[in-house]
Amino acid sequence: MKFKKLAALAVSAMLIAGCSTGGGTGDGATFKAGTYEGSAAGFGGDLKVEVVLSDEAIDSVTVTENSETEGIGSKAVETLPQAIVDAQSVDVDSVSGATVSSEAIKAAVTMALEAAGVDVASLKPVVSGPVEKEDKTMDVDVVIVGAGGAGMSAAITAAEEGKKVLLIEKAPMVGGNTSRATGGMNAAETKYQKEAGIEDSVDLFVEDTMTGGHNLNNEELVRTLAENSASAIDWLDSIGAHLNDVGKAGGASVSRSHRPLDENGKILSVGSYLVPIMEKACADKGVEIMLETEATEIIMKDGQAVGVKAESKTANLTVNAKSVIITTGGFGGNLDMVVEYKPELKGYVTTNAPTITGDGIKMLEAAGADFVDMDQIQIHPTVVQSNGALITESLRGDGAILINNEGKRFTNEILTRDVVSANVIAQPGSTAWLIVDDAMYQDSTVIQGYVNKGYMTKADTIEDLAKVMNVDAAVLQETMDAWAADIAAQTDAEFGRDDLAEVKYHLDTAPYYAVMIAPGIHHTMGGVKIDTSAEVLDKDGNVIPGLFAAGEVTGGVHGGNRLGGNAVADIVVFGRIAGANAAAYAK
Ligand SMILES: Cc1cc2nc3c(=O)[nH]c(=O)nc-3n(C[C@H](O)[C@H](O)[C@H](O)COP(=O)(O)OP(=O)(O)OC[C@H]3O[C@@H](n4cnc5c(N)ncnc54)[C@H](O)[C@@H]3O)c2cc1C
Repeated sequence: MKFKKLAALAVSAMLIAGCSTGGGTGDGATFKAGTYEGSAAGFGGDLKVEVVLSDEAIDSVTVTENSETEGIGSKAVETLPQAIVDAQSVDVDSVSGATVSSEAIKAAVTMALEAAGVDVASLKPVVSGPVEKEDKTMDVDVVIVGAGGAGMSAAITAAEEGKKVLLIEKAPMVGGNTSRATGGMNAAETKYQKEAGIEDSVDLFVEDTMTGGHNLNNEELVRTLAENSASAIDWLDSIGAHLNDVGKAGGASVSRSHRPLDENGKILSVGSYLVPIMEKACADKGVEIMLETEATEIIMKDGQAVGVKAESKTANLTVNAKSVIITTGGFGGNLDMVVEYKPELKGYVTTNAPTITGDGIKMLEAAGADFVDMDQIQIHPTVVQSNGALITESLRGDGAILINNEGKRFTNEILTRDVVSANVIAQPGSTAWLIVDDAMYQDSTVIQGYVNKGYMTKADTIEDLAKVMNVDAAVLQETMDAWAADIAAQTDAEFGRDDLAEVKYHLDTAPYYAVMIAPGIHHTMGGVKIDTSAEVLDKDGNVIPGLFAAGEVTGGVHGGNRLGGNAVADIVVFGRIAGANAAAYAK
């Protein structure tokens, strides 16, 4: 089939744009020429645009102010203004995975156009005709499907071994769920723990992970994770990613959640910090990344993986490769698939990116792979119900508490996610409030982001906090006093929280911030069976030659419940192992 791009059906903005009530000339669209401004609430706060109109067309759209998430909303900021100019309309597709930012840009442009007197609804988009796709073949050493943290760790590692690496990503941006990771990365016996005087061991990391996972985990995989975690932190350092702050996450006996800090010492979200650094490392090492390219099939020949088939907007691709790595993430963004494996989760919101749809599971199934723990799907206790935004667990590790709709604490906040989720569900209304104070707010860009996005509400006093939460002020005061006494005594008599000697913040500094939370679908622990070399296993337990997998698409590492911070460890450790072994296989 020959590649043939048909000409746009409409060629001139003048012919298709609607009329405005303003001035202007000509028979087609008439605008009131000038520069107009608009604004709307984006994902990270206010987003402002400037729209320049000539008499007959939208000449330019510029986002002049925004705080959208780097690597996610920033993609909408980069691409949507031009899309609006090309279409001469705000009726354009949102950037997949960056819906809130996309909608904010469209709303802000609409406001600017309305300020110019334009009837926005009448602006019909310029439509391009169908594009006939070309058939294209590529030959590489290693092809990797899915450019999240596992895929990029694998790609960088394979490229470091001198291999020609192609990384295929179906979204318009790299990052997947990895971009959303806000807490940290667990690792034991690291230089940063030693510097902070934290005593930890590989054995303790294994024990915590097995206990947290209800001993359903594959212990060999867990040991591989723990043994390679400190060197993974060092490797991240070598590519310019420094996770040098160590905090506590649920289910961990000691502080081992490694997090980045900004130049002022404030804690940053781990995922949105790592993804651009990994993307740059891919570019530096010569990895080719193809965005908006969706893999559909693993090509098998004589029982061996020899490439993938994929589709982009313009081509049907056949990628021939000596080895194949699948790093497509889990299926937490595919609610039908979630309900298929766990019907009781029907109706839950999800924290996952919309592209996390289990494609890898389906491709691996067709390639003859075996699977484990597919019904082990984690719900996370602290999720904003209006949009699935996650309130990171590390806040509770640092000192945040949970209070129910009667103004009372009801759980040890740092128990594992499944237990805390069950405890939230058991409360009146099955929702609860997470509380932080100003000391935490000042030290955390993550919390500042939650406030800017409108998730957390500020209250100057405990009385005001009670109003925000719609609870009795006297009861709430009693709860806060009891917490202060617990902190002073370093004992949580009622719920047995045993880290009070370590918690960094004591909730004693007004103002306070509160966010209403309830559980949401978060992590799919089950997935394809791999061995400790990240090789994919078939239903007889044999290795499928040439086929590797890493990250959330795999099962066995997390068992029946993933500990906070263990997934980022998983993707870096097993991503590197998959990259190294796929490179060796492709010799
Ligand atoms: C809100 C949130 C917060 C989290 N916080 C933490 C945390 O603090 N610490 C922690 O350890 N874990 C955390 N996790 C879990 C962790 O982020 C994920 O488990 C991990 O990042 C998954 O990485 P991955 O590389 O396996 O997959 P992903 O990062 O999800 O990447 C998979 C990629 O594959 C692409 N893809 C899928 N199908 C195809 C296809 N057919 N063709 C091409 N590309 C495809 C996707 O678009 C995506 O970009 C969090 C998860 C969420 C959702």
